Amino acid sequence: MNAMVKAEGVHKSFGAAHILRGIDLEVAPREVFCLVGPSGSGKSTFLRCINHLEKINAGRLSVDGRLVGYRQKGDKLYELKDSEVAAQRRDIGMVFQRFNLFPHMTAIANVMEAPMQVKGETKAVARARAERLLDRVGLADKAGNYPSQLSGGQQQRVAIARALAMEPKLMLFDEPTSALDPELVGEVLDVMRGLAEEGMTMIVVTHEMGFAREVGDSLVFMDGGVVVESGNPRDVLTDPQHERTKAFLSKVL
Ligand code: ADP
Ligand code: MG
Repeated sequence: MNAMVKAEGVHKSFGAAHILRGIDLEVAPREVFCLVGPSGSGKSTFLRCINHLEKINAGRLSVDGRLVGYRQKGDKLYELKDSEVAAQRRDIGMVFQRFNLFPHMTAIANVMEAPMQVKGETKAVARARAERLLDRVGLADKAGNYPSQLSGGQQQRVAIARALAMEPKLMLFDEPTSALDPELVGEVLDVMRGLAEEGMTMIVVTHEMGFAREVGDSLVFMDGGVVVESGNPRDVLTDPQHERTKAFLSKVL
């Protein structure tokens, strides 16, 4: 079976700053893949490369068996056209630390927007799905609320529903609970746990080691733009092999 995400020797620089220094990893379909590491280690940059928000400088990166942003003919790579990039991006949902909801739209309008704009769906079809999704994240009764009338945890759950509205085959979570008050973290993790149980393939950048241990299928520890250690989350968290992993975990556990 194809990996859902495969990175082989992925490098990314910003000017002289060499941030990703040869990332190798594989995410299997239906896997919950947790990515942890100190601030500045390149976790967000890696997610952004998967989602076409940044272009890699070297290596190969593919999603569901297709190169991200390129087509290969023989041994030559050709950049995809904008429309082809857009088609690839449609299959990937991303949830950020800051919820980034459209402030002037209600919760349900936020969830309906992309399917209508990007896929040309009718309002009725988009609304029916948005109602289902808001119900699934426990917010059926908040459909008419504007973001400013929702708590951080509720806004983040709307953001998850909004990403799911495009029916992605891969979900990327970039520290989805880091901006939340502690008492609101659980409700967002519960929604993510439900998604995992339904078989969604997810890459989750998080400092929530309890979530990684209970829900994660694999855990990768990244530092300085490389994968330092990876394995079953329970193993890595209980018995880290590398000094850098030990030092990091002693701070977050
Ligand atoms: P993490 O998510 O692990 O905290 P990031 O991927 O956000 O790390 O950032 C890794 C490094 O890349 C940081 O030093 C950051 O300043 C740098 N960086 C990220 N994006 C850019 C950019 N667009 N231009 C220049 N430097 C960047
Ligand atoms: Mg980050």
